[in-house]
Amino acid sequence: MHRPILAVSALNAWYGGARILYDLDFHIGHGEVVALMGRNGAGKSTTMEAVMGMVSRRSGSVVFRDRDVSKLAPFQIARLGLGFVPGDRRIFTELTVLENLDAGRQPVRRVADGPALREWTPERLFRLFPNLGAMPDRRGDLMSGGEQQMLTVARTLMGNPLALLLDEPSEGLAPVIVEQMADTILELKGQGLSILLSEQNLHFAELVSDRVYVLEKGQIRWTGSIAEL
Ligand code: ATP
Ligand code: MG
Repeated sequence: MHRPILAVSALNAWYGGARILYDLDFHIGHGEVVALMGRNGAGKSTTMEAVMGMVSRRSGSVVFRDRDVSKLAPFQIARLGLGFVPGDRRIFTELTVLENLDAGRQPVRRVADGPALREWTPERLFRLFPNLGAMPDRRGDLMSGGEQQMLTVARTLMGNPLALLLDEPSEGLAPVIVEQMADTILELKGQGLSILLSEQNLHFAELVSDRVYVLEKGQIRWTGSIAEL
């Protein structure tokens, strides 16, 4: 196996007194797309939030690009190149598509351990998301849920991440848009991004992922390729 870009071990998380995650071990290889599957409440979102340092009571090791990031703040982790699109999509409703993208812009970091990073620009993103390209001046609050969802992914890409955590990218999308989102994820993989997504839709997971972890009640119950599931 290649050296992973993200390696998580013995990850635990609590909300209040309730333990939510139990000793999770998982990794994403460079350029790999990995799906975290499981029912409502299994702990998929909490896993991503804990990796991003957004759950205050947590323990375990999170190594991103060979650095231990488990004590870092969310913005510091994002700056190292780990982009996160949370489940509660937040766009700036009073800003246009283009202004929302500008709000996600970050200087490109020099990368020592990977292929040269290509900088994302609105122009490049509009080729990836043609429906956003068709409405650069549309205000956020006038967009459909699916369009807003595309915009949160596009805005996170403006930070030029090397890896992405996507919380249920297919949720609430019309079937034809689901296919588009799957194509987008494969295109991002083709550009060298490593991706961990949470997913309840087996069809979508099948379209995009190299490997799957199945989460049940905060524990990893199974891992393998979708074909074996
Ligand atoms: P879904 O598919 O519905 O998004 P999920 O797999 O993402 O589910 P989580 O949102 O991670 O599941 O929730 C895991 C458990 O943690 C659930 O029992 C949930 O009620 C609990 N939980 C999640 N967020 C909080 C919070 N902020 N405070 C307290 N408990 C929480
Ligand atoms: Mg969730």
